[in-house]
Amino acid sequence: LHWEKQIRSSAQIRRKNGFSVLVTGAGGFVGTHVSLALNKRGDGVVGIDNFNDYYDPSLKKSRRNILRSKNVFIVEGDINDQRILAKLFEIVKFTHVMHLAAQAGVRYAMENPNSYVHSNIAGLVTLLEQCKSANPQPAIVWASSSSVYGLNDKVPFSEADRTDQPASLYAATKKAGEEITHTYNHIYGLSITGLRFFTVYGPWGRPDMAYFSFTRNILQGKPITVFRGKNGMDLARDFTYIDDIVKGCVASLDTASKSTGLGGKKKGPAPYRIYNLGNTSPVTVPVLVGILEKNLKIKAKKNVVDMPGNGDVPFTHANISLAQRELGYKPTMDLPTGLKKFVKWYLSYYGYNDGKGNSVNS
Ligand code: NAD
Repeated sequence: LHWEKQIRSSAQIRRKNGFSVLVTGAGGFVGTHVSLALNKRGDGVVGIDNFNDYYDPSLKKSRRNILRSKNVFIVEGDINDQRILAKLFEIVKFTHVMHLAAQAGVRYAMENPNSYVHSNIAGLVTLLEQCKSANPQPAIVWASSSSVYGLNDKVPFSEADRTDQPASLYAATKKAGEEITHTYNHIYGLSITGLRFFTVYGPWGRPDMAYFSFTRNILQGKPITVFRGKNGMDLARDFTYIDDIVKGCVASLDTASKSTGLGGKKKGPAPYRIYNLGNTSPVTVPVLVGILEKNLKIKAKKNVVDMPGNGDVPFTHANISLAQRELGYKPTMDLPTGLKKFVKWYLSYYGYNDGKGNSVNS
């Protein structure tokens, strides 16, 4: 395969820290940031992403260019492609897999249910099969989601709380992923850490998420649709800044290798862990809009409608004491400051709007 040579030089030779990490979904929002952080501290990183068009592939390609400028190589391929995975594992003895590739979003499942099965279930199994037969077996850290708490309304959510009421197919596939990884853990001894991310936001974010599409619409003078929950209640999310999530991911990789004795001998049975990575301070959507309006100095045209019953949950709120205790996870970014950073990135990436709906590149 044409990329073999590049990977040999980017992943193995540059590996100073002892970690070689395969990052799936490396062209994605979280994947890009995690890859950059690992690369910066001296880990060997190889990415894989299929650059699908769920959202603007040019944004994914721009992220890839940033990674390339730091000599992080991303293979363009699907995690269901067993041949590619086998080749990657043949070239690099991965110590860790950071599995972030997935079909995200809750509403997209209405039209494209099978893409969730393809990436979040079949792709996960293909990847786990590869890890199972690898020698050495890598420790796997992967992104589950706060959406597994579904219609549970007992907040804040703790890891042991019920997750048997998914509100979307997306949530169902993440929940299934937790069961599947658990099975590979106890049958094949794979070290598994599942991270339940809570609404991640920040520079290079995902255009399908509310804070991003609101920013775009407000700048273009277009209305935004704000969902309202039952009895007119505002929806709320535990918005978590990307840098805090990255720190949680990196700490999970470090913790996984401590207990599996990677680089040394295995100590006891391989661990299976689940952690909430959130911010512990939910903010309502109208408050989010207010912060964006202040940053953009433009009043939003709001269309307030009842939440459609096809995937969204009314609110999310993480209890992060387990991650705090075991990973040293401690989010530090407040939403106003984090959104300011996002808006700054947005304006520099897309250019600014002149107030008449014209976009002007800066
Ligand atoms: P993203 O869509 O930006 O990143 C996912 C990447 O995976 C994309 O670049 C996509 O092209 C790639 N991908 C999808 N299917 C693939 C396949 N079959 N083979 C290869 N590549 C594939 O999403 P993100 O926000 O960066 O999310 C990363 C992970 O975190 C996902 O697993 C997501 O479900 C999870 N998560 C994200 C959030 C959030 O708020 N961003 C919250 C909870 C969970």
